[in-house]
Amino acid sequence: MSSWWDAAASALLGSTCVGCETPGRPWCSECAAAFAESVDPVLAAVDPPLIVACRYDGCVPEAIVGYKDRGISSLRPLLGHVLAAGVLEAVELIGASPTTTLVPAATSSAAVRRRGFDHMWELARTASAATDLPAGRLLRAGSRADQARLSFAARRRNVHSTMHVTRTGDGPVIVVDDVRTSGATLAECDRALTEGGYEVVAHVVIAGSIIDPTCAQDR
Ligand SMILES: [Zn+2]
Repeated sequence: MSSWWDAAASALLGSTCVGCETPGRPWCSECAAAFAESVDPVLAAVDPPLIVACRYDGCVPEAIVGYKDRGISSLRPLLGHVLAAGVLEAVELIGASPTTTLVPAATSSAAVRRRGFDHMWELARTASAATDLPAGRLLRAGSRADQARLSFAARRRNVHSTMHVTRTGDGPVIVVDDVRTSGATLAECDRALTEGGYEVVAHVVIAGSIIDPTCAQDR
């Protein structure tokens, strides 16, 4: 049920919640509560360890798409803090040092231009502020086809050797991303960072369905 404010906002702005299509704010309080309840970081014992902050179901996909493709900036604090919850889980698990840098998976420059902002860099900065770990924009992506339309095998071919580091360095890094599907993007992040001198100690994503065994092994 929407509040008087949601109703007023809907009348003024003609907007609906991207999570449940209730008229009102672009992200309603009910969906915010449902998302908060779904946060339950899960570890996948792969190498490096993968932390998935919540399942990719319910209103979670709509929140992520609403933020990155529909520009609903009010979702940034929510998604950034969900990411931070996963990062804190990783830090506890692996005993990461305070100098461990959060590195967002690189988004293609074409996608950044289309959206008008680099959504993962913004989320990494929010998670950085919440965890006191530094964030570094250490990866850049070249051009590639849109991953969403490709099969798992095609995604792997599509992203191979498309990323490079913005500067070489050393020290531990945690790669952060919004959604993990095939693992191809994270694997490419690892390749570029490792060749650039960094040590990838964990992957943290906001959402994924890691209980699917083909997903957990496919990286
Ligand atoms: Zn809603």
